[in-house]
Order: sequence, then C-alpha cells, then structure tokens
Amino acid sequence: MNARAASKIDAANVLGHFINGEEVGDANRPEPVTNPATGQVSRHVAMASKQTVEQAIAAAQAAYPAWRDTPPAKRARIMFRFKQLLEEHADEIAAAITDEHGKVLDDAMGEFGRGVEVVDYACGIPELLKGEYSRNVGPGIDSWSDHQPLGVVAGITPFNFPAMVPMWMYPMAIACGNTFVLKPSEKDPTAPMIVARLLKKAGLPDGVFNLVNGDKEAVDTLLNDDRVQAVSFVGSTPVAEYIYSTGTKNGKRVQALGGAKNHAIIMPDADLDNAVSALMGAAFGSCGERCMAISVAVCVGDETADAVVDKLKDEIASLKVGAGTDNANNMGPLVTKAHFEKVRGYVDLGIEEGADLVADGRDLVVSGYENGFFLGPCLFDRVSEDMRIYQEEIFGPVLCLMRAESEEQAMRLIDEHEYGNGTCIFTRDGEAARYFADNIKVGMVGINVPLPVPVAYHSFGGWKRSLFGDLYAYGPDSVRFYTRRKTITQRWPSGGVREKAQFSFPGRQ
Ligand code: NAD
Repeated sequence: MNARAASKIDAANVLGHFINGEEVGDANRPEPVTNPATGQVSRHVAMASKQTVEQAIAAAQAAYPAWRDTPPAKRARIMFRFKQLLEEHADEIAAAITDEHGKVLDDAMGEFGRGVEVVDYACGIPELLKGEYSRNVGPGIDSWSDHQPLGVVAGITPFNFPAMVPMWMYPMAIACGNTFVLKPSEKDPTAPMIVARLLKKAGLPDGVFNLVNGDKEAVDTLLNDDRVQAVSFVGSTPVAEYIYSTGTKNGKRVQALGGAKNHAIIMPDADLDNAVSALMGAAFGSCGERCMAISVAVCVGDETADAVVDKLKDEIASLKVGAGTDNANNMGPLVTKAHFEKVRGYVDLGIEEGADLVADGRDLVVSGYENGFFLGPCLFDRVSEDMRIYQEEIFGPVLCLMRAESEEQAMRLIDEHEYGNGTCIFTRDGEAARYFADNIKVGMVGINVPLPVPVAYHSFGGWKRSLFGDLYAYGPDSVRFYTRRKTITQRWPSGGVREKAQFSFPGRQ
C-alpha cells in the first residue's frame, strides 16, 4: 500500500493482534478488509512484522510449562466456559463472518455451529488423553503410554471459514496442553479476534492462545522459528505444499490441508429431484467457496445428464443471490474483487475451451449492491478432462457437468484427478454405493450426502494433493497430532535384592 493511501486509514479501526492476553495495536502495513456485499472497505488489519510474531511465540513459550501441568479436567472446565460464551456471542460472530466473508447469515451460523462441535469434543479431553496401562509386562514391571503435549503450536487458516477452521485446531491443541499461535486469514479477521477475547473471558491463562494477523512474513516467521513444534495449515494446495515442505525441513510436525475439486456421481437410478436439490446447495452454497463444495457433477448416461441439466437450469433460475445479511438469499457475493475477477475469468475460459455454458451468472446485478462482488450461479455442460475449468479449483459458483458411460468411467475421472478431498454418489443401488465407497481414492465420501463433512468426533482430511501429512484435522487424529506418545516402563525392585547385570537384550520373561 502506498503512503498516500495509508494516510487515509483510520488508526482506531486497524485490527492488531492478541498476544499474552492483550489486544495489541499495530499500524504495520495495514491492509483493507472489505465488505464484499457493498464493496466498501470496512476496516484495516495490520500485517505483523517478524518481531511481532516472535513476541507471540515468546508469550506462548512462557505460558507453556504451567499450562502443560494444568490438569486436563481443569483445561476441560475452561473449554466448557468458552463454549457457553461462544453460544452467547453466536450472533455477533456470525454477523462478523457475513460482513467480511459475504456468506448468508444462516450459513455463517452453520459454520459457527460446526466449529463449536469441536469445542464440545475438546471438553472431553480427560477421557481422550487417558493412556494405556499394562501391569506385569515382566516380573514386577509395569508399563504405560502417555500422550504428552508438544509445546508451542501454530495454526494458519483460510478465508472461507474464518470461525470454523481455526476451531478445527486450537480447541484440541490447547486442551491437549499445548500453547497456540493462530494466524487467521487477512481477508476476514474480525471473527477470530472476537473468539480470542472470549477465550480470555473463559479463564484461559494469558499466553496460552495468541493471534497474529498477517501474511507471508508472519507465516514464514512461524515456519522458521525453532520454538514452534508443529503447524496446522488449511488453505490452497500450492501454499499447503510450501508449508509442509518448509515446516518439515525445519523439523516440525506439519499437517497441511489443501484445495479440492469434488465430484458427485449421479447414477441413472438416483432420485433425480433430491440429487439436484443436493447439488444446488453443495455447488452454490457459500458461493462455492467451500473446500467440500461439489464443483463437478458426473452424470452416468446421456438421459441422466439431460434430465439433470434441465432440472438444474430451473433451480438456478429461482436461486436468490444477494447480501448475506438477508437470510432469504441463498447465496452471497464472492469474498474480494480479486477473487471475483478470477472466478469470472474461469467462466470466460470455459467458453473458450469449448464447454457449453447453459447458465450464465456473469451479468448479475444486485439492486442496492451494485458495487458488490456478486456472480450468479454458472453451469457448464459437456466439460471434458483436458479443460482447465475441470482440472483447476475455481472456488466460486461454477458447476461443471460431465457425462460418463458407466460408474467405473465416472470413478476413473475422480481417481485420476489431482485432488481427493470429498466426493459423493447419488443412487438407489446399494451395491453401486458400496463399490464406490470401498474403491474411490478420496478421503471423505458421501452416499446420497452431498457434503460429507465428518462430525467432530471423526476426523477431517482428504487424499492426494488435498492433504500433505499423515494425520487429519480434529477428532481422534487431533489428539495424535497435538501430542507425543511416551511409553514408560517401571520396576521397583523389592528391598535389598542385588540385581545382576544383564548383557543380553531383555527377552521373553
Ligand atoms: P490461501 O492458501 O491463499 O491462504 C491460506 C492462508 O495462508 C492464509 O492465512 C494466508 O494468509 C496464508 N498464505 C497465503 N499465501 C501465502 C504464502 N505465499 N506463503 C505463506 N502463507 C500464505 O487460501 P485461501 O484463499 O484463504 O482459502 C481458500 C483455499 O483453502 C481453497 O483452495 C480451499 O479449497 C482451501 N481450503 C481447504 C480446506 C480443507 O480442509 N482441505 C478447508 C478450507 C479451505
């Protein structure tokens, strides 16, 4: 940003950071935060310098020993209180999401609710951290395994779920006894800051949770600092790959969840009305800005495809696009002008590539919101594998329809795609569904369920280039990710017995 633009910034409305239990003002490199429905800049957010991030890491490091030794039941009580506060502030958080992301309020509330489910799960941490104990593994020898926290861990999150995705990380990381530094998306930073205040109000000791706003400079500081033991990342695949390779090269434990291109197969025997309703929500809900959005519908047989296209066209014609503050709308704007232009560019590209644009949302104008980043729903028919609109993640309200001759051919498309986050099949045939679930090379699978996002007590993650690392987000995998296993073997010799040195490897007793 140039100096002239910076001089117009209202210093009181620049969002800073949350370090060691305090909100820290910062005027460093302020970036605008825009309301995507109006196109107006609503506030600015500071981009943390390396020194600021190091302060947050130092605060987390200082808070770690006492927090590690805090009994899990006490950590759980703080999570309970936090959950109550979240519910009391649900409207405020959902409104902040809608103002900065653009999604419809009900959808913002839905994301918030799914995030709170992970806090529910974290409330059970004493049970989840129970180790395993074996008595008398040898004469007078007992052995047990323990899950010990790692230390300072970091989370780096995307714009599309500003409340939920951070909640995939810090509730479990903190409940496991770690301290945390969150670097949320710079595009919609207000909801995470509200949450930071609530964690303090819930009684979380200062320094256990810290938040730095920023960009690559902040991320690189987290990746290169030896005090950070582990990094959880969610965002686009190129950045996920960078985070994974840099973090692991620096000796950190890393889980990096990336982008997606989720396919739905529609079999000829499917209940087509239900399948089309499901496709509408999964393709166009949240303006297609979901990593689990369905962006490709593969219809088996031309008859199925023609019927699905006709029904989709009818549904698209009645889909309501407008400001997210009005729950009567089905879809809000895209997050920023740059993203709007990128997505619109993909629609132009699809036409050049020869796909058949049967619903064109490019000329949509929302009355009263003429400067908003609105793109109406778009549907391409006869998309083929060689097209970039098929290969690349568009992350907008653009559904590509393809035609396959059989379930196997449809599944081959999915298996050969570089992403493997989510997928689903619509069918009445149990055998076809079971074959699909058993064999498809994707991490999260739905059967007549368009958005198979696992609940908080399972874990979330994709295959192939949708996830770098071995452990998924939240659920049981999060206990494994945020702890290190230690196995203790103990013997207390009975009084006075002199033990002989044993030079062979301790074998069968
Ligand atoms: P993004 O990759 O641009 O940004 C994610 C985070 O990384 C942000 O905090 C950002 O500040 C930071 N970042 C961006 N560029 C960076 C760089 N060069 N170096 C270091 N840090 C950088 O993603 P986004 O646009 O905010 O979010 C959308 C993407 O996230 C989509 O690809 C979507 O599929 C993906 N996503 C994936 C999941 C999943 O679970 N797999 C969930 C949600 C979103």
